[in-house]
Amino acid sequence: MYAEIIIPLALPKNYTWAIPTEFSDGVMIGMRVEVVLGSNKRYAGIIKKILADKPDGFNPKPILGILDDAPIVYPAQLQLWEWMASYYMCTEGEVMQAAVPSHLKISSESIFILNEDAAIDSLHLSDTEYIISEALQIKKQLSLVEIQKLLDKKSVYPVINKLIQKGICSVEETMHDKYTIKVENVLHLHPDYHAESALEQLMNDWTRAPKQLALLLAFLHLQKTEGQVQQKALLEKSGAANAQLKALIDKGILVVEKRKIDRLAVDVSLGNTHLHQLSAAQQLAYDSIVEQMKTHSVNLLHGITGSGKTQIYAALIENAIQSNQQALYMLPEIALTAQMIRRLKQYFGGKIAIYHSKFNPNERVEIWNKVKSGEIKIVLGARSALFLPYHNLSLVIIDEEHDASYKQQDPAPRYQARDTAIYYANQLGAKVVLGSATPSIETYYNAMQNKFGYYHLKERFSEGALPQMIVVDTKKQSEQSAILTPQLLEAIQTTVAKNKQVILFQNKRGYAPYMICETCGWIPHCKQCDVSLTLHKGKNMLSCHYCGAAYPVVQTCEACGKQSFKQKSFGTEQIEEKLALALPQLRIARMDLDNIKGKNEHDHLIQQFERREIDVLVGTQMVVKGLDFEHVDLVGIVDGDSLLNFNQYRVNERAFQMMEQVSGRAGRKNDQGKVIMQLSQTNHPIVAFVHTHDYHAFYEFEINNRKHFAYPPFSRLMSILFKHKENHIAEEAANHFLKSLDPMIQKTVMGPAQPIINRIRNKYIWELCVKITKQPQQLQIAKKQLLHFIQLISVHPRYKSVQIIIDIDPN
Ligand code: ADP
Ligand code: ZN
Ligand code: ZN
Repeated sequence: MYAEIIIPLALPKNYTWAIPTEFSDGVMIGMRVEVVLGSNKRYAGIIKKILADKPDGFNPKPILGILDDAPIVYPAQLQLWEWMASYYMCTEGEVMQAAVPSHLKISSESIFILNEDAAIDSLHLSDTEYIISEALQIKKQLSLVEIQKLLDKKSVYPVINKLIQKGICSVEETMHDKYTIKVENVLHLHPDYHAESALEQLMNDWTRAPKQLALLLAFLHLQKTEGQVQQKALLEKSGAANAQLKALIDKGILVVEKRKIDRLAVDVSLGNTHLHQLSAAQQLAYDSIVEQMKTHSVNLLHGITGSGKTQIYAALIENAIQSNQQALYMLPEIALTAQMIRRLKQYFGGKIAIYHSKFNPNERVEIWNKVKSGEIKIVLGARSALFLPYHNLSLVIIDEEHDASYKQQDPAPRYQARDTAIYYANQLGAKVVLGSATPSIETYYNAMQNKFGYYHLKERFSEGALPQMIVVDTKKQSEQSAILTPQLLEAIQTTVAKNKQVILFQNKRGYAPYMICETCGWIPHCKQCDVSLTLHKGKNMLSCHYCGAAYPVVQTCEACGKQSFKQKSFGTEQIEEKLALALPQLRIARMDLDNIKGKNEHDHLIQQFERREIDVLVGTQMVVKGLDFEHVDLVGIVDGDSLLNFNQYRVNERAFQMMEQVSGRAGRKNDQGKVIMQLSQTNHPIVAFVHTHDYHAFYEFEINNRKHFAYPPFSRLMSILFKHKENHIAEEAANHFLKSLDPMIQKTVMGPAQPIINRIRNKYIWELCVKITKQPQQLQIAKKQLLHFIQLISVHPRYKSVQIIIDIDPN
């Protein structure tokens, strides 16, 4: 027997290994097996196919062992990986890398760490498990090679895997993030005293140490009321000291058990709230979507901001889980999941779990297993939640479907999670509901073509109108007062005086995006990138927002030696400062990448704002997306021009979406809110569409542009980047590739050209953009030629060190 096995690496193809007869009974597709690659690199790979015949021309090496008793992925997942690798032009190993939580991946590079507070029950360890667990207790961590030496055995992964399962060690892919399985001490009465009479006798004979007796009584009481006695709870309730407890344990009266805490355990009080009654308008939307699901596998719920789409999703989810099926609710960003889980836990309690890449790996494995068994019914997550082993998924909700964050940029797989979810749902026979107030052009186009079902929910739940929009022309202001115009300042004051809140949006962080020499116009740039440096005043440094490099603030011009600089443009930090100067009595907070580290800090700030401990929240797009605040009456788009100045075919779409979404945060309940947009391009057509909140008019305008220039949805784009530390080599490679293409496809290529930022981390970048009409054959031909070319170039003496990055359907 042989098997095709996926290894979590960017290998050009999957390789085949032999399955020795000793293992042939146990193997199944989707199980992990230990294999050696090259001379001695070891990996846990996943079996994709089992083959009866030996592959031609070579003798496969044998697998060394099987790690699992049952498959860890379903065949449908493997099929999804295969599709993603082929569509997005990456390898199945790269998909596996993204799809599987780190604790299910083991390789030669892994480090195995002792879980310090693990309950090691030596009696239930095999000899080999015992040897490793002993060594771990002494050395605290072991590398794979060390384990191999200790066991003097070919196959070591099954042993490691068992130790991971038993909570004795964890895997680390890097040395930095350390995590452990959580354990708690649970107390039991020693079996000797299980008989009532024995216990009675013990207490009757008790002579000294009254405090220990009191503790024992407290224990018995807790055991009766709670069923299970946690050490912490007992000490808290009884007020006893650790020493007294230790005495009872030493005397053999109480026994300690270390028990794994179920991290997913939720407050049982949650989950009892009934869903809100849908409003009449929401009910119509719900009924229509349910009806259209019968004929359309994908449906678009186009509901204006504040129309209560979440309530409709919740009703759809309720429906799915009532027939005992699973639902996936996707959000574009991890940051949004915290507010949403608070809303959804009220209804669904322990049936719902969050899953995303920033989650602790132990928890990820727990969720993985519970989704696989069907115990978890609903998953709320970002992109990677798509990869869980759903057992019977019937509904996928993709909230804010237009959001650019659904596209993974780096590393491969560079996939569009919305599109991938649609493919996968189709494969599983599940239904998809896409939701947005500002659908992407492609999605709306599909709805207009009746390829997707469609419902337009046009009213806010509160029956409030969409906010009134006021455009303030910054051309009439001095450079300084254009940051916070008198109109905006006045509106902020009136809003706060009414006890309402304000959001100020600016898509640049830091204090000033660049500095310029007043004498000669020199601008400090990053040494590794073709990017001007942003001034961060609080941290007193300059920073490159592309590679993250930090520099001291420049005092002297490198070109002319003069010492006077002017700060140009402005970011969130400057807005916060200027506002505090202008209106010192306000409580102001800032939310951007500089200020927010980790998901908890983000959530903490949101909750503070919800509790109205903050009057004005200044932030980047973090403050915009999907959040629901009740008391925000004013939204300021501080620099509207910055949203209109992108050199990209989607610029209009992005600008419309961003402006409309920011506006949507105002006046969500009751009062009509207000939006003030400051900009100089007051006559830009997009501004007029936002002014009237007219999505359809915007769409008509934009779809004509797309058609005229044959941009998506009338074509497919494929971007190919050539990166090299020598500018001319990157350029030559791009040209060389272009010439090697089929002439028919050559005609569809734009470039080679240098992107606006043409050097990042010391690599020069040249780009080709292939624009393919939507005939699948052309796409296939182009992809095939591209793969062929990449193979050629990887051995080409001059170009082999050129890095080629392919991005299908780029943002
Ligand atoms: P959207 O996602 O469409 O912008 P949300 O789902 O966030 O809108 O709803 C906006 C606000 O209205 C939320 O605070 C929500 O709790 C409230 N809401 C919407 N529908 C209902 C309903 N049927 N009953 C009670 N509250 C509702
Ligand atoms: Zn100068
Ligand atoms: Zn840089």
